[in-house]
Amino acid sequence: MTSGIDLNRVKKLNSQDTGTGPVVYWMSRDQRIRDNWALLYAQELALAKKQPLVVVFCLVPEFLGAALRQYRFMLQGLAELEQDLRKLKIAFSLLTGNPVEKIPGFCRETAAGALVCDFSPLRIQTDWKEKVASNLPLAFFEVDAHNIVPCRLASSKQEYAAYTFRPKINKLLPVYLTDIPAPQAHPYPSAHLKQGDQITDWKAAENALFLGQSVPPVSGFKPGETAGREAMEHFISNKLPFYDRDRNDPILNGQSNLSPYLHFGQLSAQRLACAISRAGAGEGSSLEASKEAYLEELVVRRELSDNYCFYNRAYDSTAGFPRWARETMEVHRNDPREYIYPLADFEGARTHDQLWNAAQNEMVYTGKMHGYMRMYWAKKILEWTQNPEQAMEFAIYLNDKYSLDGRDPNGYSGVAWSIGGVHDRAWGERPVFGKVRYMSYKGSKSKFNIEAYISKVRAFMDG
Ligand SMILES: Cc1cc2nc3c(=O)[nH]c(=O)nc-3n(C[C@H](O)[C@H](O)[C@H](O)COP(=O)(O)OP(=O)(O)OC[C@H]3O[C@@H](n4cnc5c(N)ncnc54)[C@H](O)[C@@H]3O)c2cc1C
Repeated sequence: MTSGIDLNRVKKLNSQDTGTGPVVYWMSRDQRIRDNWALLYAQELALAKKQPLVVVFCLVPEFLGAALRQYRFMLQGLAELEQDLRKLKIAFSLLTGNPVEKIPGFCRETAAGALVCDFSPLRIQTDWKEKVASNLPLAFFEVDAHNIVPCRLASSKQEYAAYTFRPKINKLLPVYLTDIPAPQAHPYPSAHLKQGDQITDWKAAENALFLGQSVPPVSGFKPGETAGREAMEHFISNKLPFYDRDRNDPILNGQSNLSPYLHFGQLSAQRLACAISRAGAGEGSSLEASKEAYLEELVVRRELSDNYCFYNRAYDSTAGFPRWARETMEVHRNDPREYIYPLADFEGARTHDQLWNAAQNEMVYTGKMHGYMRMYWAKKILEWTQNPEQAMEFAIYLNDKYSLDGRDPNGYSGVAWSIGGVHDRAWGERPVFGKVRYMSYKGSKSKFNIEAYISKVRAFMDG
């Protein structure tokens, strides 16, 4: 083994043998070259058989409600990736359409000897892979390049909460939180390696998606692997020591803002966790507390979200809620609501609550809502809709449409935590919420300056 990959990261998705022919890496969730175990594994297979290596990305015109904002971010990242792969003599191909047809078709066309893909717990991606695996005449491997501890290994079942998951992850972290080798220049050239100025026409690829302008791109996040690394370094050098103190105040820019890069796989969580762990060793207790708090979010909470979506196929509906929450939801289903808004009022930030409206506008105008506000925002959607089913539908629709980091296991588990008590416990009973944890305007007022937050969002809106 040259890549140093732990084979617990790899799952064979069919029973075919690896043949002679190029190795194809179907890149999907982990859109980067560096720190990518799936790419390293694909290269290892190709080197063992002295075969070319081809990376292929299948662009799906409709993906969980993604809009121009998210597609533009992703395509610009892929354009950089294509150029960097070329420097490593690794071919890149962009396909457009349904991967269930396109990926096997590409493997036939290239006479591939093996197919490698990365890991995602989301239904749409697991369904694609099942269908591709069912009649693929070559070996098909899945590599978990997104989680530090591979999702299947971290736990074999849905975890109840962070306190049940944390000891399992912490036990395995010393084995998995390692450095990651770099891929090497590939010695066996592919017929698909484009020469000279031949590159993918990324503008044409975007135009073919017919996305319209209803959710325009945002300027606050520069896309791509290089930008992701720079954002990571900037956070560690400038903000990490204050993370524990500042992260829950939406006026301060105390979070890392790395979620768009992590979501698109432009930044490896493992690389980030290694860099955080090593940051400024011995520089004092506030840094140590911040490192601990950050790793709790990045490792425990983030990987718990993958666990939830992987083991609970109903992760985006009320059927995924724990029993106590479904029971309390039934008891309070017909409680009178003080306000009920249609989707258009939520979407247009036209509720009676200026704090909620500011949070919605922050997401619409910047592409990312502050983490504290995300909880308040989703809980109020529960309070002001007809029932929890509608609340789930509205919250997921809005989050996935406007957030750069939407359509992510963190989003589905975050919404389910807010509305249905997932990974939480029962609290004191009250109208509408039942035993699901409540958050109030008054509570926010005691934590931060609401007027300052509203003004800050207004400044974004005014450009
Ligand atoms: C209703 C609701 C919706 C959410 N939707 C999304 C979403 O669409 N995409 C998304 O990535 N996160 C989502 N979250 C989780 C969390 O709010 C974001 O991950 C975080 O605010 C992202 O900003 P950051 O990178 O600056 O976070 P930081 O505070 O800097 O955290 C670093 C990283 O840790 C992870 N993390 C932080 N908080 C959580 C959490 N509560 N659960 C899981 N992982 C976490 C993320 O990967 C994050 O990028 C949602 C939470 C709620 C309550």
